[in-house]
Parts: sequence; C-alpha cells; structure tokens
Amino acid sequence: MTDARIYLSPPDVSDVERKLLLAAFDSNWVAPVGPDLDAFEAQVAELTGVRHAVALSSGTAALHLALITAGVRRGDTVLVPSFTFAASANAVMYLGARPVFLDSTADTWNIDPDLVAEELRLRAGRGQLPRAVIAVDMYGQCADYEPLLEACDRYGVALIEDAAEALGATYRGRAAGSFGLAGVLSFNGNKIATTGGGGMLLTDDGTVATRARYLATQAREPVPHYEHRAVGHNYRLSNLLAAVGRGQVQRLGDLIAARRRTFRHYRTALGDLPGLTFMPVADYGEPNHWLTCLLVDAAAFGADRDRIIEHLGRQHIEARPAWKPMHLQPVFRDCVVRGGAVSAGLFRRGLCLPSGSALTDQDRERVVAAVRAVAR
Ligand SMILES: *Cc1c(COP(=O)(O)O)cnc(C)c1O
Repeated sequence: MTDARIYLSPPDVSDVERKLLLAAFDSNWVAPVGPDLDAFEAQVAELTGVRHAVALSSGTAALHLALITAGVRRGDTVLVPSFTFAASANAVMYLGARPVFLDSTADTWNIDPDLVAEELRLRAGRGQLPRAVIAVDMYGQCADYEPLLEACDRYGVALIEDAAEALGATYRGRAAGSFGLAGVLSFNGNKIATTGGGGMLLTDDGTVATRARYLATQAREPVPHYEHRAVGHNYRLSNLLAAVGRGQVQRLGDLIAARRRTFRHYRTALGDLPGLTFMPVADYGEPNHWLTCLLVDAAAFGADRDRIIEHLGRQHIEARPAWKPMHLQPVFRDCVVRGGAVSAGLFRRGLCLPSGSALTDQDRERVVAAVRAVAR
C-alpha cells in the first residue's frame, strides 16, 4: 500500500463551514451580496482591528483595488519586494504602472526597510517618487512596519500591505493587514483560511472602502437605471463563499495553532541536521506560520534543495522551492531592481515543507523521516 499524498498546504474545512455553507444555500442568498458577506466582513474587521473590510473575489483583486484607491495610474512607479508571489507585481502591471523591485533582508525574508528609505530619498531628489510602496508579509511573517511607515510618511507615499499569507499574524501586537492605507488578504485554497477562492481589502479610511466597494460592483451609480461614471470591475465575493469564510475565521485560532505545532515539530526534529536553517522569526511579532520554510546548504547537508524535493516527491510528499524573485522572472525582465542577492539566495536554497493545518503527527513524522533520509 502506498502512503496517502501529503500536500504542501491543502484546505482544512470542517463541519462548521459545511453547516454555514448549506444554511446560506438554503436561505437562497446565492449571490454576491447577503447576510453572510456582511457578517464575514464584520468578523474580519473586528479580528484585525480595522474600520472597514471589503470581501472580494481574490487577493489579487484586492491588490488591484488597493492600488487604484492609492491613486496609482499609467506611468507611475510602485516599489515592490522582489521576493514575493507574482500577484503582488501583476496588480501594478494591470494599471500600466511599473514595479521597481527591492531586495529583502536575510533576517526577515521581507522587503528591506533601509533600501525602501534609500530609494525614496533618491527618487525624491529626482522628483520621481513612486505612487505607492507594497510590503508583503512573507510566509505569514509581517514586514518591519515601523521603519517602513516612517519612510513612507516622510515622503507622503502610500503603503499597501499585501497580507495575503498573513491572516492572524501580528506586528508589535497589531494585526497583519491593518498597516498603511490598505491591507490585502487572500482566501485562496492554499492559504491559512480559505473560501475556496476569495480576498479582502482592509482599511481604516472610509473613502478607500467606499471607492473599493463601488469599483468592485461594476461602478454603478446609486440611481435606479444603470449609470456609470467610471470603469468598474466584477470583484465581489459570493455570499456562499463568505459563509465558508465565516467558519474558517471562527476556527482561525486552531488553524494557526496547528501550523505553529508543525513549525515547532520540524524545528525540533530536523534542527540537529547540518546545513538546514529555518526561516528566522523576527522578535517584533508573531507569525501565523503559514508555511514552514528553511534554507538548505547543500555542501553541509549532503544534498541540495532540489534533491530533497525530488526525494520527498517519490515518497508522495509535496514540497516546493521558495518563491522565485520577480527580478529573475522573464515577464519582469525590463524592470528595475535594487539589490537582489538576498532574494536570489532564498530562491536558490529555500525549501517549503508541508504545513497544512490538518497534518497529523504521523504525517509530520513521515516528512521528517523523508528529509532525514536524504541527509548525508
Ligand atoms: C496568494 C497571494 C496573493 C494572491 O491572492 P489570490 O487570492 O490567490 O489572488 C497575493 N500576494 C501574495 C504574497 C500571495 O501569497
């Protein structure tokens, strides 16, 4: 008998979500409005401590609307970490603006606040300030918001927080998603909480929330006939999916606790192997441990990152390389990059291990045994 496949980060849904989904279905609120949508937004707003939450069809849609409300237009520049998922940069491209990629720090894997401050200073001197800065909370660990916000405030540049991976994480006691002009969450199937596909825009700014809602619903003017003064989008989340989200967010404490257990288990059971270094946990906050990632020093470990992934694959265990930086992606080959050696190194050596919240102790043991089997 072959072992069941262990996925990197599969959905973890329970009877709680099932009941809420079927109740929404039975109520016939099968539409992108309804009581579950309102309740889901209120629940996430309260959890993250923001005034407004707008549920959307994806995290990418939320990024797109966040950039529009920040005033990003054709020809503008937006600073983006190179070490991220492509969606962070794609949303900039949708608007005809250009991302400028900045490297990460080795001690957080997040955008380097010193590089951001330096780039803003240089660009201010040339009269070429970017319209916005996107910070990403990588693998569920917040970027360093104190220096980032200080630099952005000094030059009057909007900060957008891509917290797609970070629901439930904190920075100096404040919730991920609550920093800057607007924060973005994702409820894609692989994220810490899922609606099967969805996202949310978070903001304290009532004008931003109203504009995001308006643009997400085809930019309809509040009149009986269909009147449009702007190009809108169809970006609202369905009420049915919001019902699933309500259940996931109810269970968020447990979902995070399970991922933290996995992180601790791997760190304890693999920490003695030479050549493995876990992603550092910054002392400024609590990550949600969305994915447990580590760096592989091939010489010390006795095998490189790709050999580990191949070996795990043969054992029916899904592991992945860390994100390939945007400045190394063919689609962004013409974009400017500042630094890049750190993110290139994270990509070359970075390994993400199965981290789903439904992993059993037996699953974790299988992963550990498979990794140990590759070591010298
Ligand atoms: C998943 C993710 C997104 C996109 O979210 P979707 O809901 O899949 O559109 C954006 N940024 C980062 C960093 C992500 O990990």
